[in-house]
Amino acid sequence: MQVAKNRVVLIDYHLTDPQGKVLDSSRGREPLAYLHGGGNIIPGLEEALTGRVKGEALTITVAPAKAYGEKDPSMIQAVSRDAFKGIDKIEAGMQFQTQGPGGQARVVTVTQVDANEVTVDANHPLAGVPLTFDVVIQDVRDASDEEIQHGHVHGAGGHHH
Ligand code: ZN
Repeated sequence: MQVAKNRVVLIDYHLTDPQGKVLDSSRGREPLAYLHGGGNIIPGLEEALTGRVKGEALTITVAPAKAYGEKDPSMIQAVSRDAFKGIDKIEAGMQFQTQGPGGQARVVTVTQVDANEVTVDANHPLAGVPLTFDVVIQDVRDASDEEIQHGHVHGAGGHHH
C-alpha cells in the first residue's frame, strides 16, 4: 500500500540540522503515526513520502520554505530593557512567551542584549534552517472514517481519547 491522502503512516525518523545536530528523533521510541495529507507534518516531508511504500528508507533535506519557513527579518525587534522588569538577568538564548499580534501565544528568543535594549526574535526556532530527515516507513494503512473526520491518528502512536 502506498503512502497517500487519508492513509495512516508510521515512520521512524531522525532529524538533523546542517551542522549535524540532532533536533528530533524517534530512535529508541515508538514510531510516529500521522495522517497523510492532513498537514500534520511539514509539507516537504509529506511530499517526499507520497507514493512510497512500507519498508522504504529515505534521506531527504527539506528547504526552509517547505519546513518552518524563511526567517522574517521584521520579526526580529529591539525592545526596551524596561519590558523585562523583574527579570534580574537577561542573556542571549533565553526564551520568553509573549502574545503575537492576534493575541496568540508565541515564543521569542533573546538574540542580543545591550545596555538599554534587548533584541528578540519571534521567528520559529527552525525558520531558515534546512532540515535533513532519515526516515524509514514502518507501516501504511487506511485511516478510519473517524480519524479522517478528526484529522489525526487514533491508537498506537496517535491520539487516545
Ligand atoms: Zn480524534
